[in-house]
Amino acid sequence: MGSDDTVVSAARVSYLGESQGSYKDRKLIRYMMKHHHTSPFEHVIFQWKIKCPLFVRSQWHRHRTWSYNELSRRYTSDNIDFYVPIKWRSQDTENKQGSLWDFSDVSQSLRLRRYSLNALDYYNKLLEQGVAREMARMVLPQNLYTVFYGTVDLHNLLHFIGLRAEEHAQWEIRQYAIAIEEIIQTYVPVSKEAWDHFVR
Ligand SMILES: Cc1cc2nc3c(=O)[nH]c(=O)nc-3n(C[C@H](O)[C@H](O)[C@H](O)COP(=O)(O)OP(=O)(O)OC[C@H]3O[C@@H](n4cnc5c(N)ncnc54)[C@H](O)[C@@H]3O)c2cc1C
Repeated sequence: MGSDDTVVSAARVSYLGESQGSYKDRKLIRYMMKHHHTSPFEHVIFQWKIKCPLFVRSQWHRHRTWSYNELSRRYTSDNIDFYVPIKWRSQDTENKQGSLWDFSDVSQSLRLRRYSLNALDYYNKLLEQGVAREMARMVLPQNLYTVFYGTVDLHNLLHFIGLRAEEHAQWEIRQYAIAIEEIIQTYVPVSKEAWDHFVR
């Protein structure tokens, strides 16, 4: 909801003004971004429907300025699906939170798929025995996909991209942040360019 024009109109309401053409509007957006006049950027809203593994969801939901609603495994046992990476990374020994693309054991993917399906089998057996969904879900692994809606304003979305599209973020969440960054380029090109220039 909204665009670069929304940002400009929100800023110019101070004196009941509106857009003054693209050159002046761009200048105003760049001025606000440079000087941390952030509130006009909060009037552009993005809503995302995200399917991601649980461990990515955990990282994502640390961003408290988003509003979330998520699939609940207390309510449904449908559509169980697992993330199985094709490539594996080794532990970076210098950076505790880092990983390296030098791990070549492809058999790990097959093992993870088997492990996930065994967990699903255990889960289904628990349900068959009458165990509540809210308890049976304990046996499902971290690579289980979840789905959530996340709604956020442009200011806080840029903050999210700044933290999660950069190299210190885990590769998996980074792919989402990079995709989001590409998508918003279409909707708020001037604000995004100003953010890249002055904030990033
Ligand atoms: C590479 C990386 C590694 C991380 N590692 C860990 C880790 O090991 N353990 C861990 O627990 N977390 C970790 N985090 C999560 C991190 O600490 C933040 O919780 C997360 O990135 C959300 O950032 P944020 O609080 O700035 O965003 P948001 O929650 O969206 O908040 C945006 C801004 O609003 C303000 N704000 C929001 N809520 C409050 C509040 N309650 N009080 C004051 N100001 C507030 C702050 O200025 C904040 O920067 C990691 C994050 C990254 C990117």
